[in-house]
Amino acid sequence: MFGVPTPSQLGKINEKAKRPLSKEEVFVFSSKMVGDKLIENRYVKLDKSLLQVLKDDATEGVALMLDHPWAGLGRPKAAYPYGRTFEAKVSKGDIEGEDWALFGDSYIVRGREKDGLSTDAIIADIEDGTIFDVSIGFGYEGTECSICGGSIRKCDHWPGRTYDNKLCYVIAKPPGYLMELSLVFDGAYETAGVLSADGEITDSGLSVVRDYKSLDSEIELMNIYSKNRLITLVRREDLERKIWKGGANMDDKKYTQEEVDAKVKEAVDAFKADLEKNAEGIDVFMLKHEAVEALGKEMEPNEVLKLAKEGMQYREELIEDTIAWGVRAEGEAFASDAWKQMLSEPTRTIEAIKAFRDQFKAKAEEIPAGRVTEPKKKEESVIPDEFYKV
Ligand SMILES: [Zn+2]
Repeated sequence: MFGVPTPSQLGKINEKAKRPLSKEEVFVFSSKMVGDKLIENRYVKLDKSLLQVLKDDATEGVALMLDHPWAGLGRPKAAYPYGRTFEAKVSKGDIEGEDWALFGDSYIVRGREKDGLSTDAIIADIEDGTIFDVSIGFGYEGTECSICGGSIRKCDHWPGRTYDNKLCYVIAKPPGYLMELSLVFDGAYETAGVLSADGEITDSGLSVVRDYKSLDSEIELMNIYSKNRLITLVRREDLERKIWKGGANMDDKKYTQEEVDAKVKEAVDAFKADLEKNAEGIDVFMLKHEAVEALGKEMEPNEVLKLAKEGMQYREELIEDTIAWGVRAEGEAFASDAWKQMLSEPTRTIEAIKAFRDQFKAKAEEIPAGRVTEPKKKEESVIPDEFYKV
């Protein structure tokens, strides 16, 4: 029955309670706390190693609260725990793009009242489905760059940008901690303006940050995750005490007008020199009206490049496919490399490559049975078995 603890759950709850609780006294519920899907509003992906740390904290037991009272978002409220987490596990994810997720169980003692709110009312809301989401407050220090593997707070890559077609994002890793689990009302954070407001100060003196690359790397970041969105907060006094990286050299020195002019000239000269140096490498290979004529319509250069890339990829795949059919038709003696070179010649049209493929295909399909190349065996997982024991 929903909400009633199993004997094993009750056992675990009673390891935490100072006085034995009966199964009638407690309400339990399960929830998915967070997963490792890329958090798209901030380009952060929680690493499985961090999920394991959060799992340990959830198993140890963190406070179950309402709406992250510590963060001071929205209405003012006192920080009362209404329950506690008592069990958690990292399991296979259940949505697309998610490999692993943290699932956990929490308990609430029935018939309590705190800050004018009864736990029975909260339980009823959970049962009714009017509270039906949870959100975690957590921290992590490992901020690995997906491009270079260094710390994103120090390297030259920017989350959300692509480098050689690879998206840069932050891989969140230990050390880290789970602060609390909050019950939230539907959409509480999607409609709250705080998600987009960089620099907004909350009621508890925390500042919302979106770009922590410009922050001193020693400033502690606190996070709220809900519905695949992330809010990062830092203490305002940390911001005031620590100097922002970009402004590190802006001391109190007063400059004279001459000094300022000299600095400006220096910067402009450097910029010009840079521009000249880079301009040498620029070749205009087609004028706009020529491009429009060739394409039959006006297109943005980026659009053209994207299509060209797709075309190249399609061509490569077609060549691979043709060679695979060649092997099936001719057997292992098929001169794959020579064929590949021949088919890859830039003057070879897609139609011509297709004709070769169809020819090989027809031949391969004539062969009754036997000479069919086996599909490649799926690569063995390199992750040791104990990694899955969660
Ligand atoms: Zn990097």
